[in-house]
Amino acid sequence: MPDPRAHETWSPATVAVAAGRPPHEPDQPLNHPITMASTYGATGELEYGRYGNPTWSAFEEVLGTLEGGHCLAFSSGLAAVATVLDLVGQGATVVAPRHAYNGTVMQLADLESRGRLTAHLVDVTDTEAVARACADAALVWLESPTNPALEIAEIETIASAAHDTGAYVVVDNTFATPLRQRPLTMGADVVVHSATKYLSGHGDAMLGAVVTSDSQLYAVLKGRRDLVGAIPGTLEAWLALRGVRTLHVRLDRAESNARELAERMRHHAAVGEVRYPGFGGIVAIVLAGGADAADQLVRSTSLWVHATSLGGVESTFERRRRWKSEPATIPDGLVRLSVGVEDVDDLWTDLTQALDRLT
Ligand SMILES: *Cc1c(COP(=O)(O)O)cnc(C)c1O
Repeated sequence: MPDPRAHETWSPATVAVAAGRPPHEPDQPLNHPITMASTYGATGELEYGRYGNPTWSAFEEVLGTLEGGHCLAFSSGLAAVATVLDLVGQGATVVAPRHAYNGTVMQLADLESRGRLTAHLVDVTDTEAVARACADAALVWLESPTNPALEIAEIETIASAAHDTGAYVVVDNTFATPLRQRPLTMGADVVVHSATKYLSGHGDAMLGAVVTSDSQLYAVLKGRRDLVGAIPGTLEAWLALRGVRTLHVRLDRAESNARELAERMRHHAAVGEVRYPGFGGIVAIVLAGGADAADQLVRSTSLWVHATSLGGVESTFERRRRWKSEPATIPDGLVRLSVGVEDVDDLWTDLTQALDRLT
């Protein structure tokens, strides 16, 4: 008999490939099929399509195992964010990075404008200030690295300060993925993902996820998902699961490409600043020539695609301040690069001919 808990000793690469599979038995498919079902035979565990689906469960098993908790899939990253923010009571204070994902900051502003909560935005790199802000917070939201400033939070120190005052700690782990950072082992209560990004990894699906090792929190979040209906599409869950199977391979390649390109760009006269946290596939550069140079750069390549979003196999980039909602503290000439898995010299050749035109 195979040991059902064998995956507890597996390394993350093996979990990504081998967890969430049907049993190894004659005529069982190796992959869970896409189960299209709005209803199930009565008196079982599922009953209705809003309460669960075997294809979601397979994705949830893999991501939950990678993060070290129990996972719930949502229709998008922001649906997951909204469900987690809804945990706090009326009028509570939520501490969050001023440079958190733009949609998260917009949700906080929206909730605040309707009197639902008070948002206290902080510089997440100022650990002492964040720890002080925890004092009157019900929930501390962290994102590390932040999008697109690539700032790093000291998750462990902040989580222990937050727990001293009884606040929940949530980490948006979209950029790092569980292969580079496992927030539940660093003191976080909840991890949030936009699975649209690295987990899916091919620019073809939108999905979100929440992971927690607290069974009470899991039950509350599952209850909210059942009730509100922010559930994933079955095809999207299947695509995300298929993406996770190669996450480690894609991330290793994107990371080595990103590290190499960050180093090369540091020596280019058109680039004023390079931000790279040392891991992952996202690099931010600030063009010496400001917004105009950044706008020209993104129009001057043939391999790099001018597009928002990130974490796909294909390399994309954009000037973040082209979005009106982007905070003014993000430099006007900042371009976020999502480095893909192409050949690094082809990426550099395309990028450098575009950068050369700016000098
Ligand atoms: C994209 C993103 C989100 C939102 O996810 P969607 O799937 O687009 O709804 C949340 N957090 C981070 C860090 C992101 O990059």
